[in-house]
Amino acid sequence: MVDLFSQYQHIKDSLDSAIQEVINTTAFINGPQVAVFRDKLKAFSGAKHVIPCANGTDALQIALMALNLKEGDEVIIPAFTYVATAEVIALLKLTPVVVDVCPDTFNINPALIEAAISPKTKAIMPVHLFGQSADMETILAIANKHNLYVIEDNAQSIGAIYTFSDGTKKQTGTMGHIGCTSFFPSKNLGCYGDGGAIFTNEDALGERIQMIANHGQSKKYYHKIIGVNSRLDTMQAAILNVKIDKLSQYNIAREQAAGRYDNALSGISGLKVPKRSKNSTHVFHQYTLQVADNKREDLMKHLAEKEIPSMIYYPLPVHEQEAFKPLTRISGDVSVAENLCKSVLSLPMHTELNMQQEDYIIKAVRSFFTKY
Ligand SMILES: *Cc1c(COP(=O)(O)O)cnc(C)c1O
Repeated sequence: MVDLFSQYQHIKDSLDSAIQEVINTTAFINGPQVAVFRDKLKAFSGAKHVIPCANGTDALQIALMALNLKEGDEVIIPAFTYVATAEVIALLKLTPVVVDVCPDTFNINPALIEAAISPKTKAIMPVHLFGQSADMETILAIANKHNLYVIEDNAQSIGAIYTFSDGTKKQTGTMGHIGCTSFFPSKNLGCYGDGGAIFTNEDALGERIQMIANHGQSKKYYHKIIGVNSRLDTMQAAILNVKIDKLSQYNIAREQAAGRYDNALSGISGLKVPKRSKNSTHVFHQYTLQVADNKREDLMKHLAEKEIPSMIYYPLPVHEQEAFKPLTRISGDVSVAENLCKSVLSLPMHTELNMQQEDYIIKAVRSFFTKY
């Protein structure tokens, strides 16, 4: 699905020396590379504050902890997402409320959000799934009207740009009160282990998030609030400092690969290529097809026979996961999410996908459908 080794080979010299430098100085925790990365990410994203942390799940948890919510408060999320979004909500004894998604963009359907709001609702957590922004203009207007926080789960869409109706452009992760991202190796900006970051434009939230991520301390050994140990390793920061300079180029490579898939796979009956939102660029964390008529498993098998990997992101909506079934509130009809779980299939998508590989994959997909 991804080819991290080929990617490494192109940047081996800079990466190897960046890693060696961390070892030479032995500043493994909070070394200078962490602050360098924070500033690079600030410049890249346009966010006022960036707080690096240990992983994307921690980023979401710390974001919620910063809001001072109380047990039983509700957080609205899309029914179709990676489990981490719901997990941190439940861990903090808050209630995840799932709302259905749009059938073509896979992102939360903003037209259904207001109906999900109750007196206990405190926040909306849109997920920018697979590489493009949720409809943030509408989401922010609803949040504003109902006095709710917006936390963006931007683990999959770093670098995507959303355009508001007045022409203002902002990066995903920098539009809500807090944005969260992940540097898991296969993410668009991946390190060589776990990593994450939190974004905010608000000074008070930035200060609080910084404290929570580092044991709730304002200065060393003075702990004001209860926090967690969630730091970005110096080694990972050193790696990210090399890779962030390539991120725009990497996202373009993904977009081009997606364009080639689009051209070759559009118009096949029973197969839907991913739709691009009007107001967002797409950084194609995943290239996700919809396969009709229960043919998905057969297509997977057909591809596997030709040694082509494919993956189902995600086989179950949040509310059907065993751990979340008893504690999730379902708002209204969520059948779009349920049906997507039965039809989505993601093809290999990464920065090193060459035309020869892609032609091979395309031919395999097409040959499956000509059988019918
Ligand atoms: C990857 C991911 C996360 C979690 O990030 P980790 O760094 O793996 O903890 C959260 N939300 C979404 C949507 C993700 O894809």
